[in-house]
Amino acid sequence: MFHRSRSNLALWFTLTMGSILVVFAGVLYYQAVLDELKDLDRLLHKKSKLMTVNAKYDPRKKQLDLENVPLDLENVPLLGSNVPPQGTEFVYARWYDTKGQLVQFFGQTPEAEVTIISGFRTLKTTFYSSEGAPTVTWLRELTLPVYQDNLLIGYLQVATPLTSTQNNLAQLRLVLLLTVPVILGVIGLAGWYLGGIAMQPIRDSYDQLQRFTADASHELRSPLSAIISNAQYGLLSKSHDIEAQRQRFGKIFDVAKSMNTLVNNLLLLARHAGRLSSESLQKVDLKSELVQIADEYTTQEAAKHLNLTYTLPTGSVIVLGDVGLLRQAVVNLLDNACKYSPAGGQVQLRLFTQSHWAVIEVIDNGIGIPEADLPHIFERFYRVDKKRSRKTGGYGLGLSIVQQIVSAHGGHISVKSVVEKGSTFQIILPLK
Ligand code: ADP
Repeated sequence: MFHRSRSNLALWFTLTMGSILVVFAGVLYYQAVLDELKDLDRLLHKKSKLMTVNAKYDPRKKQLDLENVPLDLENVPLLGSNVPPQGTEFVYARWYDTKGQLVQFFGQTPEAEVTIISGFRTLKTTFYSSEGAPTVTWLRELTLPVYQDNLLIGYLQVATPLTSTQNNLAQLRLVLLLTVPVILGVIGLAGWYLGGIAMQPIRDSYDQLQRFTADASHELRSPLSAIISNAQYGLLSKSHDIEAQRQRFGKIFDVAKSMNTLVNNLLLLARHAGRLSSESLQKVDLKSELVQIADEYTTQEAAKHLNLTYTLPTGSVIVLGDVGLLRQAVVNLLDNACKYSPAGGQVQLRLFTQSHWAVIEVIDNGIGIPEADLPHIFERFYRVDKKRSRKTGGYGLGLSIVQQIVSAHGGHISVKSVVEKGSTFQIILPLK
């Protein structure tokens, strides 16, 4: 399932990034074509302008040709003296008069009369070698109107082959054709790698959920079988010993009670995952809540073997939160302090403020927690020593509930513990 999702993620990433890359390469190529043509046109225009400088209006010829503007093209390169302008690669040069009739030309034989359209155009032409073999060539042609003293004296038409432009573009095409697939491959690999990173938290929480379900079922199995076996025995037994039957009911009652605690804890964990909604937040005076909890505790059986003291500030300490959940967190810590402290032990409950935080500390001088277990004690169903916890009726959910409650309030929980010396649990919560 995760492998398929990862492949899908990688595929969609590659398709998206690949399409962007292909569009980008297309735009790049189109821009290169425009730039190449612009450079070529600028050169063509410059050279044609140079040629037209030498075309002269010759009033002496007026008598010979009454209709046309009299011209002297003798000094025009290619058309007159046949000295081409420097570095010229013109395939042809033609001079048309103002009516579009051919006056003089160089290179390829043109049509005698054409409709003149000024400007640039790209055209395909076929050349024949001396053996008569045809070669198709693309040309860039410029038709330039030539003026002298604001009088149109004719049109110069020149054309140059697009070979070098085509070669440059072919090179660019080759580079793009080689690099685009390579980059696509790299994108695919990156997609696969990123897909793995994106899937990791989902995989972790899936694993956690599976472990949680398996642990919960496992924990529920033994009390359920205890209830079933006791009930079965009661049903099948023919004994009239009321005391024995009462003991069985007592056993069923105890087991069902502990199951009830477990199910309540599971529900608590399921309901309060994530931050609390703003509607469920209210002002809570931690001082008065802790006084109440400590008073209730001193009278409880579980704490009778201990010496419970508390240190509280003079003023109230207000935080925003769910009073029931906050009480539950402190009670869980006190429960543990009592459970894991021998008779005569000391348990301290402290409350104070530090900068913008309210700090609650539960300190005991009980059996402590081994260093190796400290990083795991907040995990669900984690018990330092299963036998020890069974004796005290713990399922390993108490501290994970505390941690979940504290996180839901935007706070933090930490622990310091030394085996045989005791433990200090510290909760910090943001002050209102
Ligand atoms: P449990 O319900 O089993 O006590 P918790 O989540 O409350 O589960 O605690 C996890 C483990 O951490 C317990 O198994 C216990 O061994 C250890 N632990 C918690 N609090 C204390 C404490 N104050 N002193 C010693 N050990 C503790």
